[in-house]
Amino acid sequence: MPDGPLPYRGRFAPSPSGPLHFGSLFAAVVSYLDAKTHQGQWLVRIEDLDPAREQAGASAGILATLAAHGLEWDERETYQSDQIELYRANLATLQHQERLYWCRCSRKQLSGQAVYPGTCAQQRRPLAEAAIRFQTLSEQDRFVDRFQGLQTCAPREQAGDVVVVRKDGLYAYQLAVVSDDISHGISHVVRGIDILDSVWWQRELYRALGSAAPQYGHFPVLLKPGSEQKLSKQNRAPAVQNQTASANLVQIFRALGMNFAPDRPPQLLQQALAEWRSGPLSAQIHLQSQALRLD
Ligand code: GLU
Repeated sequence: MPDGPLPYRGRFAPSPSGPLHFGSLFAAVVSYLDAKTHQGQWLVRIEDLDPAREQAGASAGILATLAAHGLEWDERETYQSDQIELYRANLATLQHQERLYWCRCSRKQLSGQAVYPGTCAQQRRPLAEAAIRFQTLSEQDRFVDRFQGLQTCAPREQAGDVVVVRKDGLYAYQLAVVSDDISHGISHVVRGIDILDSVWWQRELYRALGSAAPQYGHFPVLLKPGSEQKLSKQNRAPAVQNQTASANLVQIFRALGMNFAPDRPPQLLQQALAEWRSGPLSAQIHLQSQALRLD
C-alpha cells in the first residue's frame, strides 16, 4: 500500500420519509463541502428500509433538490432496499460470533430505561415476532470527532445491546448503515450531532465485522429561526423549494458564518469551498458546538 492520506469517500444518507427540509439540506451541504475540500468523493445513499415511513416520490424529489442546489454526487446513487443480501450476510457473521439474541421486550416494558437491561440476553435461538439484538462487549471506547473533539464511553454499560433486526423483520438502521458504509468504502462520515450517540454501536459493529471505522464529524443541529427548536421533520420543518435554491444556499451559508451575495448554486458552492478550505468554517462549527441558527 502506498503511504499517504486515505482517499476521502463521504456520503449523504437521507431517508425518503418526505421531501428535504432545511435541516437535511444543511447536512447535505456540510458533508459535500467537507468531501470536496479533501478532493474526495461524495456519494448519495437513500435509506429506504422502512416502507411504512416512506413517502411516494420522496427519493426522486430528494435527488432533484440536491441537483437543483448544485450538489452533484459521484457514482450512481444507491438504495438500501437493494442491499438486503449484504445485511443478511453481515447478520450471519454476527451470529457466528454468538453476538446475537432474540428479544421480545415491548416498548412499554422498556420505557424509562436509557440502556437495554439485557433481559433477553439468554435467548440465543431464533424466536418468532422478536427483535434481534447485538451484544455490545467493549468496556471502554474513545474516538476523536472532527468537530466535537474527544468522545469517550463505556459502551457495554452506557450504550448496551442494540436492535439490528426489528420485530417486524426489517433490518435496523445501525446494521444497515455500517454494512453500507463498509461496502461503499466510506472513509469519513459527516452528519448531525443528533446521531453522535449511535457511534458507539456502530464502532462495535465495525469491530465485529472486521473493518476499520471511518473518521466521524458530527456538526451542530440547525435551529428554526428565532427558536430553540431543531429543524426536523418532527418539528414540521418546511420542504426546501428548488425554485429558491440560491437563496436557500445563501441562508445556509449565513448560518455557518459565511455571507455571500446571491449567485447561481455552483458559484455559491465554489465560494463556500474556498472558505471551508481556509478553516474558519470548521472553527465556526467548533465554536458553536451544539447548535447553529437559521435566520
Ligand atoms: N438516514 C439517516 C438520517 O436521515 C442518516 C444517518 C447517517 O448519516 O448515518 O438521519
